[in-house]
Amino acid sequence: MALSSFEKAKSFDALVARVQACRMCPRMEGRRRVLGYANGSPDTQVLFVAEAPGRLGAERDGKPLWGDRAGKNFRSLLKLSGLKRREIFISNAVLCNPQNKDGNNSPPTTREIKNCSRHMKGLINIIKPKVVVTLGRKALQSLNEVSSHEVDLRRDVAKLSRWNKAALVPLYHCGQQAMISRPFDKQKDDYTNMGKMLKPLLKRSA
Ligand code: SF4
Repeated sequence: MALSSFEKAKSFDALVARVQACRMCPRMEGRRRVLGYANGSPDTQVLFVAEAPGRLGAERDGKPLWGDRAGKNFRSLLKLSGLKRREIFISNAVLCNPQNKDGNNSPPTTREIKNCSRHMKGLINIIKPKVVVTLGRKALQSLNEVSSHEVDLRRDVAKLSRWNKAALVPLYHCGQQAMISRPFDKQKDDYTNMGKMLKPLLKRSA
């Protein structure tokens, strides 16, 4: 059953409190738990799932895909889809910034994604998104921990499929590393096409 805006806010606040207290991953000790209203409003139709908070982005200011290079790329790409930042919620496969021994960003491990999937499940149960957009393989992997799917990023990029009662659009990540697999110009086309596909699915305010 769909939750009212008030019920969503209450459940979201409780989830945020659980996440702030979470100590499941030893590597994340001392890192910010990136979940709150800076991710977006839980009363939304569109959930974006990226990989992890970045060291120079959300780890600093708590706002996903904002302030670092990936954030700048995302801002330009999102514009092409016609979606506005205030209309979407952005989360990550893991809610803390994984770093290697040199203090650089590193990909989350399978164990960390599994650990954090309980929070992802909680978030999806609250938002009940109409559309889920994944950015990169780790994001697809995290959805698979919530409810299994057969979506393959390379084969299905920017195509619409169904997952867990939502429309699912898998995209590549907007960080510089992922541009090797999917160059920026191709990603621009993906966001433009996604905007056209989603238009009939979403109720939009002016
Ligand atoms: S990544 Fe997720 S599961 Fe791991 S400590 Fe952070 S909030 Fe907890």
